[in-house]
Amino acid sequence: MAKLRRARITPGWHERAACKGADHWIFCNDEAALRNGEPRPPYDEEKAKSYCSGCPVRTVCLEEALRMRDLFMVRGGLNADELRAEYLTRQRRAAS
Ligand code: SF4
Repeated sequence: MAKLRRARITPGWHERAACKGADHWIFCNDEAALRNGEPRPPYDEEKAKSYCSGCPVRTVCLEEALRMRDLFMVRGGLNADELRAEYLTRQRRAAS
């Protein structure tokens, strides 16, 4: 697998996250709950991205999401589709 750009991910960065204490589900467009017959989690991309827009650790969050392949929710200001596109772009760039 192609190497992704390394980011400095320092321990404890989550403590400075703008979304700390926010409802996790607004970030997560997870269909698992629906499959289990539960109500749709309150995914709210616009609200989630509003947290990200002013987040002091946005870059670190994005780099960690890409590195860990955590591409299933809003991270670093990108939704799941945008994260996957960014991941693939970087992979192609690294392979060329
Ligand atoms: S960039 Fe967004 S998802 Fe990541 S820590 Fe900040 S507010 Fe949370």
